[in-house]
Amino acid sequence: MPLERKIKYEKDCDREFADWVTSQTGGENLRHCIQCGVCSAACPLSLYMDYTPRRLINMARAGFKKEVLSSFTIWLCTSCYSCRAECPKQIKVTDIMYLLKRRAIEEGVYPKRFPIPVLAREFGRMIFTFGRVDESLLVANLFLRTNWLRFLDMAGVGLGLMRKGRMSFVPHGIEARGQLRKVLEAIDSQQSKEAAR
Ligand code: SF4
Ligand code: SF4
Repeated sequence: MPLERKIKYEKDCDREFADWVTSQTGGENLRHCIQCGVCSAACPLSLYMDYTPRRLINMARAGFKKEVLSSFTIWLCTSCYSCRAECPKQIKVTDIMYLLKRRAIEEGVYPKRFPIPVLAREFGRMIFTFGRVDESLLVANLFLRTNWLRFLDMAGVGLGLMRKGRMSFVPHGIEARGQLRKVLEAIDSQQSKEAAR
């Protein structure tokens, strides 16, 4: 994964983003972070991240919006909560990762063709449209949007399963889709209001 190494100055910071992160539920005590690095040491995936959790926390509160939202780190986080359990300042690192993922999807700035954000976005879209997830459609969409060659590779298997009636591309939605949509829209609007506060 390419690691951007260049000097950043205060003028590069997005104060609005920093204020947003620290005003969200989960990010309230972000400024109490003492940069001890315990979260990074506890994280089983920090080795593969472009920015360790400690570094990401520091960048988020400093307002390095672009780097934070387009990082691989937030998508590699598996929500294991080790960092949160070990943090001496009780900082909700895992919740912050979720906040940042949501914002990255909203702004469409996640790493291009990286499967995890595409999967998260398609999963949400499917729930909104059909009320449930259709695994065949989800996987097909994921491959189409991230790796065409893989899609072609798997096409033979998919066709075989379809012929035997084990797989279908016709999604089956729930009956009360309209009601579910209203609930989801209400949650969305509540979150937008909280985010704007
Ligand atoms: S463990 Fe907590 S205090 Fe230490 S660097 Fe991580 S978030 Fe900051
Ligand atoms: S919750 Fe995420 S950032 Fe924290 S230790 Fe687990 S994988 Fe790492």
